[in-house]
Amino acid sequence: MYTCWNGMNGRYTMGVPLIKFDSYMAVEQAETPLDIVFVSAEVAPWSKTGGLGDVVGSLPIALAARGHRVMVVAPRYINGKSDALYAGAFDTGCRVPLDMGACGTQEVAFFHQHSDGVDWVFVDHPSYHRPGNPYQDENGVFGDNQFRYALLSLAACEAPLQLNIGGFRSGSPPGFPYGDKVVFVANDWHAGLVPSYIAGKYRRAGVYKDARCIFAIHNLSHQGVEPAATFSNFGLPEDWYDPLSWEYPSWASINGPAVNILKGALVASDRIVTVSQGYAWEITTPEGGWGLHGVLQARQHVLNGITNGVDTAEWDPQTDAHTPAPFCANDLRGKADCKAALQRELGFKVNHEVPLVGWIGRLDHQKGPDLALEAVPGLAARGCEFVMLGSGDAEYENAMRAAEAEHPASFRGWVGFSVPVAHRIIAGCDILLMPSRFEPCGLNQLFAMRYGTIPIAHATGGLRDTIQDYSPYASEPSGKGTGWTFSPPDPGSMLRAVDAALETRWHRPEEWQAIMRNGMTADLSWNRAALQYEQIFNWALMDAPVRAY
Ligand code: ADP
Repeated sequence: MYTCWNGMNGRYTMGVPLIKFDSYMAVEQAETPLDIVFVSAEVAPWSKTGGLGDVVGSLPIALAARGHRVMVVAPRYINGKSDALYAGAFDTGCRVPLDMGACGTQEVAFFHQHSDGVDWVFVDHPSYHRPGNPYQDENGVFGDNQFRYALLSLAACEAPLQLNIGGFRSGSPPGFPYGDKVVFVANDWHAGLVPSYIAGKYRRAGVYKDARCIFAIHNLSHQGVEPAATFSNFGLPEDWYDPLSWEYPSWASINGPAVNILKGALVASDRIVTVSQGYAWEITTPEGGWGLHGVLQARQHVLNGITNGVDTAEWDPQTDAHTPAPFCANDLRGKADCKAALQRELGFKVNHEVPLVGWIGRLDHQKGPDLALEAVPGLAARGCEFVMLGSGDAEYENAMRAAEAEHPASFRGWVGFSVPVAHRIIAGCDILLMPSRFEPCGLNQLFAMRYGTIPIAHATGGLRDTIQDYSPYASEPSGKGTGWTFSPPDPGSMLRAVDAALETRWHRPEEWQAIMRNGMTADLSWNRAALQYEQIFNWALMDAPVRAY
C-alpha cells in the first residue's frame, strides 16, 4: 500500500500503484461488461501444444463468468486424431470470402459452440485439414503457416461482424452479431495480423473505430518472419508495409528485408500484455528481446505482465480423474498413493522414501531437456528416481531413450504427448524440475504446486515470479516459500538446488510439508488474472486507438 499527501484536503490518500495488480479485490461481476474476442492458433481442449492452448481455453471462461460476452476464434483443425472434439461445434452456415491479396480470395466457414458461457468459434478452411499438430507433422513445420494464420487473423476480424450468434450477455438480443465495438485479444504471432487488419484495413473504411486490440505475448521467440515479398499475401494496403518491415538478423541463413508479423502487432496494438511481470521486463532487454527489445522499450508504457492462472477444475488433486487417489492440503495420504501408483506404472520399486523427480515439457532447447538429461547420473547418485515426459525434437527424444537404457534403475523417458500421464507425474512426484533457459510464465510449476509437488526451477521469467524461494529462517511456515530456484541454468547449479531440497526433505520433514502446503493453498486461480486483464481492457478503452485514422 502506498500513501501520499493530498494537499487539497489535507489528508493522506492511500492506494496501490496502478501498474501493480495484487491488491485489487475480487468482485463478482464486472462493472462494465465488454464484448471480447480472443484470437489464437490453439485452444484447449480442441487444440493444444503448450501453454497457449491452456490459457485460451481458460481465461475466456473466467472473463465470461464476470459478465463479459466472450468469443474465441481458432482454426478447426481436422487431423484424423482429435476430430471428435469438434462434434459439439455446429456449422453456422456463414461463408465469408476473404481478400488474401496475391493468394486470391479464400472462402472460410465458421463453426460455433456455446459452452461455459463462451462462444467458441472455429474457422474452417482446407488448409487446417491435415495430419499433425497445428504447426507441423513428422516432416517438419508446414511451409504455409504464414498464410494459414494470416487467414485466421482476417477471419477473426470478420467473425464479430458476420456471425449472428447472438447475445449471451444478459440484455443483448439473440441472433445479432457482436458488432464492431469489441476488444480483441490477439495471442502470439499467429494472431499478430489482427491489429494490422483492424488499424490498416477496417478502421480506414470506418469499421472498428471504437474497437481496441490487445496483443498477448506467450512466447516472443516465435515472430512469424518471412521474406518481404510475402507482404502481398496479406491483403493489406501497400502503405501498411512499414509497421511490418524487418531485416533478417545477421545470424539468419538468409539476408535482406523481411516482414515480421509480431513486430507489426507490437506497433499496431493498443496495449501489450505478457504472461508474467518478470517476462514483461526481460523482453525489453537485449538478452530477452529476441531483436525486438527496442520496439518493446518504445511501447513500455502500454506493456504489462499478468501471471497465468491454473484451470482449477482440470488441475484439482481432490477430483482429478487421471489420478488414482484424491488428496488435499489437509490430508496428504492420497498423494502417497499417487506416488506408489506412479512408481508401479514406471516399473520402479514402490518405496515412499525414494525421492521421485519429474520433468514435463516440449523437447525444445528453451525447456532445458539437455540439462535435465545431463543431471540423470547426478540424480541417481543422490538416490532419486527421475521421469521425463516430452515430445518434440528427435535428438532429445533419442537421448531420453538412450538415458533410460543406460540408467534402467533410476530413469524413465516417456516420449510422447499425454495429458493423463502429465497429471499422474504432477500428482505422484515429490519434485518437479524446470531448468528452462527462458520461461514466459510456465504452467507446470503452478500445476505442481497445486499438487504438493515442489518445483525446482531456473530463476527466470514467470518461474522466478511464481516460485517463492524456501527460507529456513522465516519464522512462519507460510513464509518458508514454495520451492527452490537456481541460476545459471546448468546441471551443477540445478543439482545444488536439488541438494538443498533433499536436505530439507530428509532432515526437516515438517518444513518440507509446510512448503508443500504453501504451494497447495496459494491463489493460482484464473479469476485473479481475469481481473487484471479487465483492467488492461479498461485502460485501452480510456485511450484513443494507437492508429486512429
Ligand atoms: P509452453 O507453452 O512453452 O510449452 P507451458 O509451461 O506454458 O509451456 O505449458 C505447457 C503445457 O503443455 C502444460 O499444460 C504442460 O503440462 C503441457 N505439456 C507439455 N508437454 C507435454 C507432454 N509431453 N504431454 C502432456 N502435456 C504436456
